[in-house]
Amino acid sequence: MSEKQLNSPASFTTGNSLEKKPMRIGVLGFGGLGQAATRVLAGKREMIWVAAADKKGYAHDPAGLNPDRCIPTYHSHGSLGYLEPTGTLSNRAIPDLIEKASVDGYFLALPNLPNTFMASVARQFIQSGWRGVLVDAVKRTSAVEQLLAMVDELQAAGITYMTGCGATPGLLTAAAAIAAQSYAEIHSVKITFGVGIANWEAYRATIREDIAHLPGYDVQRATSMSDAEVEALLDRTNGILTLENMEHADDVMLELAGICSRDRVTVGGVVDTRNPKKPLSTNVQVTGRTFEGKISTHTFTLGDETSMAANVCGPAFGYLKAGVSLHQRGIYGLFTAAEVMPQFVK
Ligand code: NAD
Repeated sequence: MSEKQLNSPASFTTGNSLEKKPMRIGVLGFGGLGQAATRVLAGKREMIWVAAADKKGYAHDPAGLNPDRCIPTYHSHGSLGYLEPTGTLSNRAIPDLIEKASVDGYFLALPNLPNTFMASVARQFIQSGWRGVLVDAVKRTSAVEQLLAMVDELQAAGITYMTGCGATPGLLTAAAAIAAQSYAEIHSVKITFGVGIANWEAYRATIREDIAHLPGYDVQRATSMSDAEVEALLDRTNGILTLENMEHADDVMLELAGICSRDRVTVGGVVDTRNPKKPLSTNVQVTGRTFEGKISTHTFTLGDETSMAANVCGPAFGYLKAGVSLHQRGIYGLFTAAEVMPQFVK
């Protein structure tokens, strides 16, 4: 095998030379995860961050954007649109950016509020005629199901869309799919996450979406809560959200991958919004029966020092790289984190 064949198919070659061009990456949504994603990319040479959009504007630069300039601008002015000289204010930041920037793959670090928002963004990409790779870290089963219904349109549009590629769903779902291989039958997949963040404002959408899983709440109610109402709720719980039996897409993803029926998958966890230390160790337990008839449980536990941002953004870019290699081979449509192996981004 030549050196070129040994190298990942997800790197680009320019013309006849073997010089590789980094994948040009865009980030939609510039909140907690979007900003962390750009810090992750800063350490990579196979990917270059060239474009981003938030609710009020966008910025793009083919030579690369600098998180050390973009993040302070976003914090002081509330939008990347204020970035000099590459920012533009716009109330249709996503379609404007899709049209103006040259990007191979986008990480959609957007809130899925309302629960149809991510599917509506996918539709904007389809309608724009853009071709490339999209990756999301969307969480709800019903949100992934909306995207599944779009598989033919994505395929026809030449888009390779990787869904559910964060931590859960994402890393932990993929770990469950691997752990399942020891068994002849899977009895249960139990995901338990612990998240610690210093303040909820750094991850507003994540916290609102988690609140929507609490008894008595739903997506609509959580979306319409003011910041003061979220704070009042968190004051009552001492900053802790305890979540059980969540509607999480790990279930539909493992069912689609043929691992087990969705009713065997459960997801819950504890989020501390006032302390970056994890309240418990995030883990997935996969219980099954081996071909010899033994019942056993595999447990995969994330290191306590790894943050939510590290466990979401790392896998998202690993799946984006895998998506680029599929796209280069003309494979379009919709794939989940339980179906495709992520590739490590150098
Ligand atoms: P955030 O609230 O911190 O930031 C959201 C960003 O999106 C902001 O920059 C905002 O301006 C931008 N935005 C909102 N509407 C927009 C629009 N119409 N056009 C352009 N930009 C828009 O969000 P976050 O806490 O970083 O969460 C992002 C998503 O990641 C959430 O949906 C959350 O559920 C998901 N998430 C997934 C996992 C996982 O493991 N799968 C873990 C954590 C978070």
